[in-house]
Amino acid sequence: MKKSIMFVLIFVLLGAMAFAGGGRDKAGGLPTIGAAIYKFDDTFMSYMRNTIEELAKGKADLTMVDSQNAQPTQNDQVDQFITKKMKSIAINPVDRTAAGTIIDKAKAGNVPVVFFNREPFAEDMGKWDKVFYVGAKAEESGTMQGEIAAEWWKANPSADKNGDGVLQYIMLKGEPGHQDAELRTEFSIKAVTAAGIKVELLAEDTAMWDRPRAVEKMDAFWARFGDQIEMVFCNNDDMALGAIEALRKAGFFSGGKYLPVVGVDATAPALQALSEGTLLGTVLNDAKNQGKATFDIAFALATGASPTTTAGKMDGKYVWVPYQKVTRDNFKNFQ
Ligand code: BGC
Ligand code: CA
Repeated sequence: MKKSIMFVLIFVLLGAMAFAGGGRDKAGGLPTIGAAIYKFDDTFMSYMRNTIEELAKGKADLTMVDSQNAQPTQNDQVDQFITKKMKSIAINPVDRTAAGTIIDKAKAGNVPVVFFNREPFAEDMGKWDKVFYVGAKAEESGTMQGEIAAEWWKANPSADKNGDGVLQYIMLKGEPGHQDAELRTEFSIKAVTAAGIKVELLAEDTAMWDRPRAVEKMDAFWARFGDQIEMVFCNNDDMALGAIEALRKAGFFSGGKYLPVVGVDATAPALQALSEGTLLGTVLNDAKNQGKATFDIAFALATGASPTTTAGKMDGKYVWVPYQKVTRDNFKNFQ
């Protein structure tokens, strides 16, 4: 065979392989997806992380990085994903106000983005059509948590320890500015007052989603308010478990001494606490379906397909995964 014909044949073959590869990185390779998590050391995020990694197996060449709770670190990671020409990126921002900058860079490099868990502002979402968000409606989780609290309060008149007809409570918040922290704080109490219950906030502070910090805060609240406290609202389960730990030291959860603590997420340790009768209730923050929706969208974007998922309700650039109430009556269904 003549050399020139050989070359032509090789070119045709290479061309065909590249074509068959579609959005793939290299002929025969899997599409590359870069994912950044605000910090690996977060119980709820570790569930999402595991789901995404599981789903990527055999389908995508996934690079998952830990942003270690530092936005500058995450910005560098995003730069690297773009330099490496990843086919798409999935970002759980450290600081959701940084999403705008990430979108600008992604757009310049033509790398589609799906954000998850920390919702960018609407004006940032509007910067480019290849930007999506997967999450859950924070207000819904707040409302459900408040309803669990209200129902229990009404069924347990002795919970009003000072008998003043007012629910005196503590609020342990997640990271300030995070939509889940702000809206859960607001909507949980709205649901309680909507149920006709008068409330009085004794103290509110952030424990940054973190269990050890919640123990410290609750220790301090107990020292300051003692038996004035009639309920503890926590924006997530890790903090609820921290509050329970602190209250246990103060003598609660044994010998008939009880104080209601509510959380959000329905993590495995929280379900355990429900079964032990310490945690009053929580709300399922569905990591499996949020992880699936995130992967589905990232994968579609990486392969040039139109982004869809069955793991949540798609509304334009948003995918919403519903929350569910988890109480002592139904927690077994979530274990
Ligand atoms: C979860 C928290 C988690 C946070 C991380 C929230 O949706 O409820 O447990 O720490 O996301 O951003
Ligand atoms: Ca009271």
